[in-house]
Amino acid sequence: MTILDARAISKRYGGLAALTDVDVSVAPGQFVAIIGPNGAGKSTLLNVLTGLVVPDRGSVTLGGQEITRMATNRRVRAGLGRTFQHGRTFRRLTVLENVMVGAALESKANERDLREKSLQVLDQLGLADIAHESIGKLSYGHRRMVELARSVACEPKVLLLDEPAAGLNSAEVDLLVERLSHLREQHQLAVVLIEHNMGMVMRLAERIFVLNFGQKIAEGTPVEIQSDPAVLSAYLGEGYVHARL
Ligand code: ADP
Repeated sequence: MTILDARAISKRYGGLAALTDVDVSVAPGQFVAIIGPNGAGKSTLLNVLTGLVVPDRGSVTLGGQEITRMATNRRVRAGLGRTFQHGRTFRRLTVLENVMVGAALESKANERDLREKSLQVLDQLGLADIAHESIGKLSYGHRRMVELARSVACEPKVLLLDEPAAGLNSAEVDLLVERLSHLREQHQLAVVLIEHNMGMVMRLAERIFVLNFGQKIAEGTPVEIQSDPAVLSAYLGEGYVHARL
């Protein structure tokens, strides 16, 4: 059973094949990662999933519903949540207000219920202490965590995470890994992670899809991927050492 299914996705930009016949499927509650060297097609695939890019061929279904050409905001309402690599928060609002604004976009619940839901998610992410702080005063790491809380408060079935560790220090990455694991247990959330930090990918992902030059070159568990010759050679070409994979 799958909750999110991308089938035979192809996308060209002029003469360049950004994606060729790529399949990715995600089971309910499963944590998957999409990795690959620079230019492999990860962002293009993520954009196909979010609806920013319409593929030339192939289809995307969410919970069995075809969404290949569905607008981005409708996908969010259908249960496909996401965070952005360069997140947006409302700097004049408090942490709680920021999360409530996100939740309000997806929900017809009244303000009291939204507040309760938002506080619950902040608590699960270890952010209850700063719920009433103005977001402009927070560290970058904390702001990113608030963006995550905002996406989770929308109660998605699948959460797409675009480089959530970008710009974080190693202590913040550790905290993010811990909080993401905790969230998944609490929400039975499927997650699709696009991430350069291999340590984070290997610790969180149950299944990894590897792209190179727009093609899927491997798919498997972290252990399988770390010893896959095609994956190692794709990364070696980019100057990565084995230890990083
Ligand atoms: P990754 O995220 O893995 O670095 P991308 O999906 O960003 O890879 O890019 C895949 C390929 O498609 C790259 O060669 C990139 O230059 C090209 N590409 C991506 N977006 C566009 C675009 N809008 N126009 C032209 N080429 C693009």
